[in-house]
Amino acid sequence: DPPLVEIEGLTKHYRTAAGFGGAKRTLRAVDGVSLAIRRGETLGLVGESGCGKSTTGQMAARLLAPTGGRILFRGTDVAGLRGRSSKELRRSIQYVFQDPYASLNPRLPVSRLLEEPLLIHRIGDKRERARRVEEMLERIGLGGGTFGNRYTHELSGGQRQRIGIARALMLEPEFLILDEPVSALDVSVQSQILNLLKELQARLGLTYLFISHDLNVVHYMSDRIAVMYLGKVVELAEVRELYEKPLHPYTQALVSAIPAENRRERRERIVLKGDIPSASAVPSGCAFHTRCPFAFDRCRAEAPVLRPAAPHEGERRVSCHLYSGHH
Ligand code: SF4
Ligand code: MG
Repeated sequence: DPPLVEIEGLTKHYRTAAGFGGAKRTLRAVDGVSLAIRRGETLGLVGESGCGKSTTGQMAARLLAPTGGRILFRGTDVAGLRGRSSKELRRSIQYVFQDPYASLNPRLPVSRLLEEPLLIHRIGDKRERARRVEEMLERIGLGGGTFGNRYTHELSGGQRQRIGIARALMLEPEFLILDEPVSALDVSVQSQILNLLKELQARLGLTYLFISHDLNVVHYMSDRIAVMYLGKVVELAEVRELYEKPLHPYTQALVSAIPAENRRERRERIVLKGDIPSASAVPSGCAFHTRCPFAFDRCRAEAPVLRPAAPHEGERRVSCHLYSGHH
């Protein structure tokens, strides 16, 4: 079975205004990301804020135009789609935002917020739409009452995110991009939403790209994980491999910061030097060399590429010169 979504060399560069020196700079928000997302899986996308994970997700959802690379959905390049197939594609891929409050119109009652995607796509008559709205409220655990009449300011954070998810599901998509969907919620509410997402995925056969900076949340949700640093994927692995034996020094640092009771083996905490550099001043060679505890001469001169970690590592990929002895 071919992957549902294939992202190839996806790039988003911005030309920034000239500073005092007069020279324009290039901001490399996303810099050649390639990922395949299998039907029915959850691919986690992790990294610090500013690493390009949201930009990658927004391009995958066609909310943002790439400056390079391409996106295939069911084997078809989405950039070439026009008319009816373009409209169908827009239904199939939906984006759920971190803050549903900002993305939901406060002047519309919940029932209208859920009906709206159907209206835009001219689906069903009034009665059919009302039936679908009630069915969806049921499905997200808010049915059987008067929830449809409420406004977003009358809802709790968790209820609002349920509505955000419901709205994304109204058009029966196949692929959902979830951008930090629980980061704005209390920890007690987070697990309810995560469990709802898992349940919906199983019931509706959904495929998820799950974006988060929180490694515990990503661990709970994902089948495979891609780790991003400064616009690039630096490691890609099955969830268990990644947490038990992280290969890239950046992944090792992220995993070592997870509280020990959540990990099988105890590992020294690796504290990285300094902050993540600006995407408009990406270091030469390996972009991670300014913070890497293992950096050597080659790292400053030559950029590593994402490739199999070792001949028997299967689909596991890492981008680091420490693992290039096999090639
Ligand atoms: Fe560290 Fe060098 Fe590997 Fe980059 S390539 S992660 S600097 S060891
Ligand atoms: Mg973000």
